[in-house]
Amino acid sequence: DVIQEERLKYLTDEPRIKAVTVVFSDLEGRLHMLDYDKKFFVKGWDNLTFDGSSIRGFTAQRESDLRLGIDWSAFYWVPADVFGAGKVLVFGEVVDKNGGTYSADIRGVLKQFANEAYEKNGYTLNAANEIEGFLFDGIDAERTFHETGSFEYVNKGGYYHSLPGDPLREFIDTAAEIQRAMGFENEKDHPEVAPSQFEINYTYGDVVTAADQIQLYKLICRQVATQMGMTASFLPKPVTSVNGSGMHTNVSITKGGKNLFWDPKGEEKVSKFAWQFVDRILTHGNDICLLLNASVNAYRRLDPHFEAPNQIKASATDRGSMVRIPIGNEKSARVEVRSVGPDANPYMVLYSVFKSGLHGETSRIKNLRQAERYLPDNVYTALENFRAAEWTTTLLGEDVKARYADLKQASADRCARLLGTIVKAPEVQYH
Ligand code: GLN
Ligand code: MG
Ligand code: MG
Ligand code: MG
Repeated sequence: DVIQEERLKYLTDEPRIKAVTVVFSDLEGRLHMLDYDKKFFVKGWDNLTFDGSSIRGFTAQRESDLRLGIDWSAFYWVPADVFGAGKVLVFGEVVDKNGGTYSADIRGVLKQFANEAYEKNGYTLNAANEIEGFLFDGIDAERTFHETGSFEYVNKGGYYHSLPGDPLREFIDTAAEIQRAMGFENEKDHPEVAPSQFEINYTYGDVVTAADQIQLYKLICRQVATQMGMTASFLPKPVTSVNGSGMHTNVSITKGGKNLFWDPKGEEKVSKFAWQFVDRILTHGNDICLLLNASVNAYRRLDPHFEAPNQIKASATDRGSMVRIPIGNEKSARVEVRSVGPDANPYMVLYSVFKSGLHGETSRIKNLRQAERYLPDNVYTALENFRAAEWTTTLLGEDVKARYADLKQASADRCARLLGTIVKAPEVQYH
């Protein structure tokens, strides 16, 4: 295809590019990176393999060799001053033995789902995520927490308040500049409510691009922070006494350029179609909670006293509700899913939100605006709900569902053991 030819030619002709970084994500959403020498890559890109047995949630030992396809449309230039000289980055696709999408490569699963929605119904699935994080002093602060028992803020700040020269402001400016250099369309950025907390917003995109950009956003933030001798943390609730970090997931569906969620005469100015989508998400709210809040720590965040949701309901204003309908216009009308942690697998988040919203069951809930049910307040309850739900089998298939549950069970048990023996060690997970 044209894009492929163009980019291969670029790689061949551009002497400053020396290597190609191919990235993919494991079942829990950790980004893995392989660097290929450019000359090797240009010749051999259609025959790449890797050992999947050491990637969490991927193959069992006996089937450890997996193929890596290249998604030429997800191709990024990476700024040399931050990532080292002479590289481009491209997203890979994990392919199974029969040449199909590997069932634990959720990026591939999401892409297939989005393609089908387009082919069958002409739907384009759009997403914009508001990814919050903390900037802590010291490199590798999530690990050293185990020894020190605390995180060090780098500023005292507050919502929207920042001055040039403030390390948090410097961090945000640098990260935003790198995003722009990589082709993100940035909109705004600001220190968030908690001290040392940040949020950098960029425009919405199709679901696969949106999820890729979440992975890149976190990578950029971590890299910039490291260069400053600091840590960018996407733990949902690193400090108990202040706001946690969310990854509000704003979604809409367009058809032929028309926003199907917009209706100026509809309730909250969104369409019946949008309300049906909301209904289905709320109906499956407990089923998919473990996919949106994927760590032990994430359940600490779900507290309405800190602007995070715990109620399975929809509201225009109440930030304690799982779904919010923000004020919008024809272009921006959307649904905001607030019960998402920034350490969740972004492909999994968008896949489960859209598939639940489009194909889930409706109307187990009578009044969408009134909470009859609550989100789980701990990972063990979330695990139970996830395992018991038929819907999660429909989403992932039995095998991947079991693998995912096993991984979450293992990390929950590990944290429970730590909490039993180490006084101050909380549920820190390394993402
Ligand atoms: N930090 C809040 C959360 O955990 C959101 C606060 C905000 O965006 N104003 O979801
Ligand atoms: Mg925001
Ligand atoms: Mg925010
Ligand atoms: Mg928001």
